[in-house]
Amino acid sequence: MNQIFEKLIPYLDKHMAFNTAIAMLDWDNETLAPEESMEYTAKALGVLSEESFSSLINPEVKEILEELSKEKNLSDLELAIIRKLEKQFQKSEAIPPKEMREYTELTSNSGKAWQKAKRENDFSVFAPYLEKIIAFKKKFAGYGKKDGQKLYDVLLDDYEESFGMEELDLFFDKLKKEILPLLKRIQKAPQVDDSFLHLNYDIEKQKEFNRYLAEYMGFDFNRGVMAESEHPFTTNWHNHDVRITTHYYEDNLASAMLSTIHEGGHALYEMGIRDEYTQTLVGEGASCGMHESQSRFFENIVGRSRAFWEPLYKKLQDMFPKQLGKVSLENFVRALNTVKADFIRTEADELTYCLHIMVRYELEKMMIEEDVDVKELPDLWNQKYKEYLGVEPEEDSKGILQDIHWSMGDIGYFPSYALGNAFSAQIYHQMKQDIKVDELLRTGKISVIRDYLKEHIHQYGASLKPRELLKNLTGEEFNPDYYISYLKERFTKEYQLEE
Ligand code: ZN
Repeated sequence: MNQIFEKLIPYLDKHMAFNTAIAMLDWDNETLAPEESMEYTAKALGVLSEESFSSLINPEVKEILEELSKEKNLSDLELAIIRKLEKQFQKSEAIPPKEMREYTELTSNSGKAWQKAKRENDFSVFAPYLEKIIAFKKKFAGYGKKDGQKLYDVLLDDYEESFGMEELDLFFDKLKKEILPLLKRIQKAPQVDDSFLHLNYDIEKQKEFNRYLAEYMGFDFNRGVMAESEHPFTTNWHNHDVRITTHYYEDNLASAMLSTIHEGGHALYEMGIRDEYTQTLVGEGASCGMHESQSRFFENIVGRSRAFWEPLYKKLQDMFPKQLGKVSLENFVRALNTVKADFIRTEADELTYCLHIMVRYELEKMMIEEDVDVKELPDLWNQKYKEYLGVEPEEDSKGILQDIHWSMGDIGYFPSYALGNAFSAQIYHQMKQDIKVDELLRTGKISVIRDYLKEHIHQYGASLKPRELLKNLTGEEFNPDYYISYLKERFTKEYQLEE
């Protein structure tokens, strides 16, 4: 190890330890903690967060970074960690501390206002907070802006480095041109009967099957835990302790299974990161979008395919003979691929998902670049849903108030979800040329697919950027066309439409 870099280690380790404690408390809050604990635990979390921040962002670390800028003898890992650290410094130094404090207070209050607005179905409760959040985000983006850069581009770059409006406009234009007509054709086609997925399914049995499913994918229970929470999520402290959750519904068999497969995809990413990277600043996924590409690859491309279910379906049938005994594999898989344009993003099917993101992207652009009046947002939201999905939410709690993101100040986050889908299709396109994906799934050799992803994506953690990972694997720059053709091919087939 470089001798000057070595001076950083105590700071990095302290930061890592605080973050581990924070992640554990967060996990506990979502899973086991009693209802009334949050208010008090939040106090401890606040202190830990401050400590975590100042353990890294301080004058001593800055001085070491300056020394390191003159060093030539640094390993790739050291350079990657320095790059990450410099970025954190840039970010935290750009905003005056007083404004940062005001903003932090605002977002903690706006979270409560959003909850109340959603509960009472009243956008006007949240509107004044959203207005202030937008003003702050524009101001902050202004601080970090390079010459000629647009404000929304600065915000987008926070979540998915180097992806801006130019590329996203093209991406969403293609979706509009290709996917909207496809959706219209599907809506006119004979609909799939998926009612058998909504019979009564014993939760204990579901748990047993979901645990089996996670293990089958390669989730290592010696290095992982599976629990329940209201909203499924994945967290980890390092690559030897990765935790996922699921939520079970008695009248919805697919919900828990697909979310186990989704979170399982996130978990395999974290478990696959190299030992020497874990517990460092690069011991995490390359970006939100790249993380989502892995979860969605497993959920959609694998988990909704016939090949995946071929070796598994009999076991599921045996567990639920009354509900599934007479349902063929064919019909089961078709039911998993039902397309139904609806209001709620988190419940959207694979085809309409990106249209939900498109609505949010267009509104965020208006908030940041076009000074839209916040009061007009609910109507604009509804108009866009009508135009793209053909449905109009009757109430704002099922419309503009459904997502938590804007209340937390996350403006510019949503497009990462769409990019994740597009990354996964590009990765899949290459994978099919390198290994026999369908045959491996049909014969239960999913481990070969997992190892492939580990070799090309997972092991690198955040030491490489998403664009580099894609280029190294596929020999090509990011190309959304793979996603569009994947969707067209899949759903033309599922709905037996003429080409
Ligand atoms: Zn996810």
